[in-house]
Amino acid sequence: MQNEFIFGVNSTVALQKKDFDLLLKKLQELGYEVVGPRVDEQTLRYGQINTMNDLPKGYISKQEAGRFQLIHTGHSRYFDVIPGAQSWKQFLFPSRVELFELNKNAGRWDINRTESHSPAYAFIGVRGCELAAIQIQDKAFIREDFTDPFYQERRERAFLIAVNCSNPAGTCFCASMGTGPRVESGADLILTELDNVFLLKIGSELGRNVLNGLPVESASAFLLQAAERELEQASKKMGRTLDTEDLPELLLENLDAAHWQKINSRCLSCANCTQVCPTCFCWDTVDTMSLNGTETKRERVWDSCFNPGYSYQAGGNTRPTIHSRYRQWLSHKFGTWKVQYGTLGCTGCGRCITWCPAGIDITEEIAALRKEVKK
Ligand code: SF4
Ligand code: SF4
Repeated sequence: MQNEFIFGVNSTVALQKKDFDLLLKKLQELGYEVVGPRVDEQTLRYGQINTMNDLPKGYISKQEAGRFQLIHTGHSRYFDVIPGAQSWKQFLFPSRVELFELNKNAGRWDINRTESHSPAYAFIGVRGCELAAIQIQDKAFIREDFTDPFYQERRERAFLIAVNCSNPAGTCFCASMGTGPRVESGADLILTELDNVFLLKIGSELGRNVLNGLPVESASAFLLQAAERELEQASKKMGRTLDTEDLPELLLENLDAAHWQKINSRCLSCANCTQVCPTCFCWDTVDTMSLNGTETKRERVWDSCFNPGYSYQAGGNTRPTIHSRYRQWLSHKFGTWKVQYGTLGCTGCGRCITWCPAGIDITEEIAALRKEVKK
């Protein structure tokens, strides 16, 4: 007979690393498609995790403005590498989703709405900045006045294993944004990696049920202290900082600052920053018709405020210059986002800095704007 599971929500248990596959197996048996970070074709991606051997054991990443380097150190950690360009938004808000199809029959068009057949995902290794990004996208897609059914279905079925981040990258500034490196809540399980053991804080009743039957034991005071020390160190290792004081006012009251013009000569308007950003949600609809004109389908695809077509309306472009598009991006993230959703639109993950081919760094841009305004 199975012992009663004595650990409740908010308690922290220890799971030996050798037993982590049992947790993955349990999630698979419960019907989840388990996804997490893995090294594919010499880069880091989010993809299917069948066993813990699929995780990026021994890797770290070196990240600077316009640079990403994956390094294999051979150490025994599974969650020390900071994610690459991909984020969880590709699962919850995919880059391309079919909305409906129209078929022409006997002179009339029939509409067939696309049913969502998304798997239930279990995300392994969601960092604090990424968890905050999911919560920010929730505010855009699951609102009182409008709910996106595609996003909502995926989000509500997702099981989240967050990870406390002990090895931030050079472009990270989550500590400034108050989103990491520590995860307090918002996930079903919150994992801290130590040398031989994973500590798992139970974040929900679902998380508790998943652990039930696995060989976990109460985390000792010694292990809890070791985890605490790692997290304190991590905050000090943060690569960048951002002064968040009065950010909406700084941005929205200085739309004519001279600094914006300087962006024109550096930004390529390539939209990389918005595509890798885990909070950006701009999209467009695209219709594709069959050659014989009897079928058409409408898809939702990711768009970007850096694409000139995005701000084309009523016969003209409201943001015809690169600097006006960059200013729109930044003043939305750090200004009007707060007005719309009650939170800033940036979590300090650093992706837009790492993946900008021109090496443009939002922490430096904000600091330069602040300096000009102070003068
Ligand atoms: S704006 Fe940059 S640092 Fe902030 S959440 Fe987006 S990608 Fe990350
Ligand atoms: S800031 Fe960088 S990533 Fe973003 S559009 Fe400009 S060049 Fe591209």
